[in-house]
Amino acid sequence: MEDKQAKKSFKAGDVIMRQGEKGDCAYIIETGQVEILIEKSDGSTQQVGTRGEGTIIGEMAIVDEAPRTATVKALKDCTMLEISRDDFAMRLKSTDPVIQMISQVILTRYRDTLTRAEILGESNNYPPTEAIERNYTAQTDVVESVKIANEFKAALNNDEIDMHYQPIIDLGKGSVIGFEALMRWTHKEQGFISPGVFIPIAEKSGLIVEASKWAIKESCAALGRIEKAVGNTTPMYMSVNFSSHDFAEEDFVENLLRTINASAVTPEQIKLEITERLLIQQPDNAKETLQACRDAGMGIAIDDFGTGYSSLSYLYYFPIEVLKIDQSFVRAMYKEERSLELVKSIIGLGKNMGLNIVAEGVEHIEEARLLQDMGCDSAQGYYFAKPMSEEDVIKLLNSWEPVKISA
Ligand code: C2E
Ligand code: CA
Ligand code: CA
Repeated sequence: MEDKQAKKSFKAGDVIMRQGEKGDCAYIIETGQVEILIEKSDGSTQQVGTRGEGTIIGEMAIVDEAPRTATVKALKDCTMLEISRDDFAMRLKSTDPVIQMISQVILTRYRDTLTRAEILGESNNYPPTEAIERNYTAQTDVVESVKIANEFKAALNNDEIDMHYQPIIDLGKGSVIGFEALMRWTHKEQGFISPGVFIPIAEKSGLIVEASKWAIKESCAALGRIEKAVGNTTPMYMSVNFSSHDFAEEDFVENLLRTINASAVTPEQIKLEITERLLIQQPDNAKETLQACRDAGMGIAIDDFGTGYSSLSYLYYFPIEVLKIDQSFVRAMYKEERSLELVKSIIGLGKNMGLNIVAEGVEHIEEARLLQDMGCDSAQGYYFAKPMSEEDVIKLLNSWEPVKISA
């Protein structure tokens, strides 16, 4: 892994970090010596220890965003290696998922112990009960995540994971032109677990990579079977969700193409749904990967458009084909003038750039009409159809009557 540690120098007497201020990095002391000072509630300062070469200071800031629990001052001239929270998170991400989560538990517990030993009772800045409560809650969350991650890993191998497909409708013709593939987990004991719960954990633990590979394989196969079953002459598309972890895989495009080519569908029938966040976080890497996907014929859709970053320049930079308007704007269109204007602007912007627009979360005919009037190409939502099994998709298509949108 690339070494991202920055070197810093401090003169004797310099304050390296201050109690109560937010910190986002830890330091490894290369040379020199520091003292750790606690400011008490009566305004006096007490030295609680010193640290020298090869030790680490400020490490709690890479665990969470709570303020510094002590002031650290250089006793001698020092050189330090900085470890940022982001760098730490990135390093952690490249390890085994269980190690990642256990490390988080240990580090959170460590903050808890230190908080009690060094701070509580000494300073008014950190009310004991609140600090302990916060850390216990964090621990419970982490332990729960480890549990879910382990169960999800098992679920991938024992048929508890399934794909559902939500039809996407052409607003002009009222026909089904494609689907969004959505993962479903039916736990043997607990029943349905929402993707809102397990997807973030699968992403955090890295298990999403295995899950995505399975999802794309299953979705391609399903689309092939659906088309065969309904005998459609116009090819439909399948839009599959991907995360930044998937893109970090070196052989991502190769694997994707191998999977598509082994199925009955063509790369032109596959769209990759990604969020703006992914593009902003890994711009160079993402551009190359997305371009390779585009060159192979696949489409790129920006999911939840409008909820992420304000800079729109990336729309020109990346080879994007589809914008998916987030459902929160669609829902608010009737209530807030601002949301209506926003949707109008997104459609206008997208159209000017030659992009396809899909509105998400359409629950009422009035929304569909309004969207069509504004020039939106297509939509998905409970008004048309909920995400459903492959079997139900075939039934639906076999009895599909074009939806009449305009009044
Ligand atoms: P998303 O990609 O924005 O997916 C759309 C979500 O909106 C789905 O939730 C869908 O069931 C829901 N939805 C569709 N129409 C309506 C509607 O009219 N009203 C309302 N209220 N909701 C509607 P779901 O299936 O619970 O998925 C939640 C999120 O989990 C997805 O949001 C996506 O971010 C993630 N996800 C789901 N499946 C996968 C997957 O296979 N891979 C990855 N990486 N993420 C997935
Ligand atoms: Ca999506
Ligand atoms: Ca979405």
